[in-house]
Amino acid sequence: MPARSFIKAGFLFRSNPRNGQYNKVMGASFGLFRLQQVDRQIDQAQARTAEIQQTLENSEELLAAKNQLELAQAGKSQAERALREIEVQAKGQQIKIEQSESSLYGGKVRNPKELQDLQNEVAALKRHQSTLEERQLEAMLKAETQQTALQAAEVNLSHVQSRLGDQHSQLIEEQNTLARNLERLQVERRSIVVDIAKQSLEMYESLRQQRRGVAVVEILDNACSACGTTLTAALQQAARSASQLARCPSCNRILYAR
Ligand SMILES: [Zn+2]
Repeated sequence: MPARSFIKAGFLFRSNPRNGQYNKVMGASFGLFRLQQVDRQIDQAQARTAEIQQTLENSEELLAAKNQLELAQAGKSQAERALREIEVQAKGQQIKIEQSESSLYGGKVRNPKELQDLQNEVAALKRHQSTLEERQLEAMLKAETQQTALQAAEVNLSHVQSRLGDQHSQLIEEQNTLARNLERLQVERRSIVVDIAKQSLEMYESLRQQRRGVAVVEILDNACSACGTTLTAALQQAARSASQLARCPSCNRILYAR
């Protein structure tokens, strides 16, 4: 059948939609329109799959909890080290005091000047000792605070891990569902593609890349639904052609008419 009469036949069927043969002649853009619907679903499923993968691999919340734990561990070690140092100093100070007191009360030193010096020395050592004791107390409190912070960080991390464990298993389940959907969509895609001419398919693929995923547009209210350009009656009729593709004169997309 020559293309011209074929189009004409298509037009006739369409002008009598109740004659039961309405669906027998489809416009050439119908296959591409369906293909685009499937391709959009494929794009969405792939984007969501990638998003889930990223969440699974790189959870900010988990990293933050681990970081908090590391900081708390470092803080606790530092506080304990400071406490040990002050304890050593306090102990050394205590020994000095005992030595000076034993000289003072041992009876070997009898010279009043020397005794006075020793007494002054013991008093100075004791003053410094009480300063050290205050510092020791501060260091102990700080070490306790750090210990509490560390425990809180450990509890927080385990909560985050268990919550993410639940969330992650849900995400993995969603990913499996998406993979099954993608398989089904690819089968559907192949079944659509076999009926489309190679040239049309190439035009569709390159337009989809150029036009942010939208290569085929429906005619709505006598206009291109992508760019809004009003289309002539002749162009709208051409969009129903079973043998050739009509393009929007403004955005160049392939036109599809229901
Ligand atoms: Zn347009």
